[in-house]
Amino acid sequence: MAQSVLTIDLGAICANWRALAAMNDGETAAVVKANAYGLGADRVGKALAETGARTFFVAIAEEGVSLRKALGAGPTICVFGGHMDGDAALLRDANLVPMINSIDQMLRHVEALPGHPFGIQLDSGMNRLGMEPAEWSALRDIALSQNPVLVMSHLACADEPGHGMNEYQLHTFRQMTDGIDAPRSLSATGGTLLGPDYHFDMTRPGIGLYGGLPYVEARPVVTLSIPVIQVRDVNPGESVGYANSWVARVPSKIATIAAGYADGIIRAMGPKANVWAGETRCKIVGRISMDLIGVDIGAVKNVPERVELLGQHQSVDTLADAAGTIGYEILTSLGTRYARKYTTT
Ligand SMILES: *Cc1c(COP(=O)(O)O)cnc(C)c1O
Repeated sequence: MAQSVLTIDLGAICANWRALAAMNDGETAAVVKANAYGLGADRVGKALAETGARTFFVAIAEEGVSLRKALGAGPTICVFGGHMDGDAALLRDANLVPMINSIDQMLRHVEALPGHPFGIQLDSGMNRLGMEPAEWSALRDIALSQNPVLVMSHLACADEPGHGMNEYQLHTFRQMTDGIDAPRSLSATGGTLLGPDYHFDMTRPGIGLYGGLPYVEARPVVTLSIPVIQVRDVNPGESVGYANSWVARVPSKIATIAAGYADGIIRAMGPKANVWAGETRCKIVGRISMDLIGVDIGAVKNVPERVELLGQHQSVDTLADAAGTIGYEILTSLGTRYARKYTTT
């Protein structure tokens, strides 16, 4: 079989959730937007619900509908995108809680679904989603009289503990919300690690659950094992792959492995990335093709049957560095062609 195997350790995800939950006194939710960062919202959501997560966040109502099918009644499912035109039936039927982002959304919500639970998202400086301070002061009393289940905001620079933006946003969020009765939430993974000032009543980790930075101590969650299809000897002066971009300087042993950019292995990482054959690091050589990659296995004693792109030896963030991106993008790019296996270690 030439199918690569993506193993997702649900036990590690749950352990990461419990460790992040132990860092704060409030509730710890779980962010499972974008199909749980590419790892499967149904399986991840169920495992986390069994471990004790009671509140889940998705980006759009449609994601909430499919998560509700997986989780059944019980857990709270919140939608960052709020209440968009056409969402009313989805929000009502799947019992989803929109995070209201503007006065327009607020009007739409109370008109279409009076009495249906909602939260409020405030913009404390990121200028992405949520009501700005002026908008919030106009709406605040009316909105609070409808008992929002949560008032939240989001940090722009929480992965850099020393960044002045963190304190600025904390201060702004406090100014906008101090004294209200509704539960408050400011922090995702990064903010959770900034300490108690940032925790409020609920934290909302995503990437930390899935083994990514800035949660350095996270247990690794994904392993990607790719079969070797063919091995050949390449003489000095011969090239490998499209555009002859890699040329052997010495006699080389090249393995062709069965995955490529169609599987989310970002083509631009080619010149910097490695795979692992057991304990041996092997350089990717030549262009990454759609379905195939060349690997220099000269340092390996026996020809390997499979190599690892992600796992114990190489984290999503190491791979992200090679591609000039972040772990989040590596995870959410993971393709649909892999055999996905779930384990609980
Ligand atoms: C994605 C997201 C999160 C989770 O962020 P991580 O950095 O993955 O922990 C939390 N809150 C909001 C508003 C988000 O968009």
